[in-house]
Amino acid sequence: IALLTGGGSGFVGRELTRLLKTKGHEVTVVSRQPGPGKITWARVLESSGLPVCDGAVNLSGENIMNPLRWWNDSYKKDLFSSRIDTTKALSGAIASSPSPPRSWVLVSGVACYQPSLTAQYTEDSPWTPFDLLSNLVKEWEAAAELPENVAQTTRQVVIRPGAVLGRDGGAIKQMWLPFWLGVGGTLGSGRQPFPWIHVTDLAGIIAHFLETPPEAAPTASPQVYNGVAPSLNTNYEFTKEFGRILNRPTVFPVPAFMMNALLGSERAVILTQGQKVIPKRTLEAGYQYKYPDLSSALKEIVG
Ligand code: NDP
Repeated sequence: IALLTGGGSGFVGRELTRLLKTKGHEVTVVSRQPGPGKITWARVLESSGLPVCDGAVNLSGENIMNPLRWWNDSYKKDLFSSRIDTTKALSGAIASSPSPPRSWVLVSGVACYQPSLTAQYTEDSPWTPFDLLSNLVKEWEAAAELPENVAQTTRQVVIRPGAVLGRDGGAIKQMWLPFWLGVGGTLGSGRQPFPWIHVTDLAGIIAHFLETPPEAAPTASPQVYNGVAPSLNTNYEFTKEFGRILNRPTVFPVPAFMMNALLGSERAVILTQGQKVIPKRTLEAGYQYKYPDLSSALKEIVG
């Protein structure tokens, strides 16, 4: 089948493309840059509209942990527009397509759930925005919604991943050097939950919904699935397991105030605080995790 991946050139998108191609699917990436196997956003927006496809997903977004970017208004604006404008471009192109795809998947995040040491969140948990990142998730997911008549035929899915773990990007790529040098440690108190997923499983979940749209009757609003591993872990457990598998000490905790100073407190919350997120519907949908626990995930990554 033919699949369209907005932002498919990135960390998650490259893993997803590999998986989809091994399954024999045809993949077209929507990108800011033209190239082989790619079309540009300008094409989707202006000239030819949505190419004929069976499923579409959006993975675009300015990297939130870009160490080269200082936390200021222009960066925040880019975080919002790179996600919301691309999502609107795709949902708008789907809505006006003469042959819309069967499934439309948005990958957002777990920042909509309020960080807590005790609360447990499933996809059914109600939430209202409480900070910058939860507002981002609200606007981002709203931008994906299709008009009711289109939602009769195109299934809308939202996947909310935790920190995506893999060798070629995301959190691990940035932590590898300090941990390898033996100066890694817990962040903040270390007791905060650390929702995570192996990149192979996130790609697997996305592929699952691109290939087999959910069975339920069409719904006006998207069906949400938490994209996290089922094992609930803390930052302390992650830190100790990563150090153990790398065979390095992890005795240098980084205090929360330092994280706030380095990253800006509005984004440091991703690391210094966390949510216990349960992938209830993802499991009910029959997805079988390849890396359900930290040990198997980190062993694969460290290799
Ligand atoms: P990447 O950082 O790898 O970026 C994905 C793609 O987004 C890039 O390849 C790029 O495509 C496009 N992009 C980057 N900046 C901009 C911009 N300013 N405007 C438009 N497009 C831009 O993301 P990941 O693969 O790590 O993540 C995929 C999605 O999942 C993102 O939306 C992210 O927010 C979300 N997510 C990721 C997590 C993680 O831990 N990695 C955790 C939770 C959610 P091109 O250069 O081809 O235009």
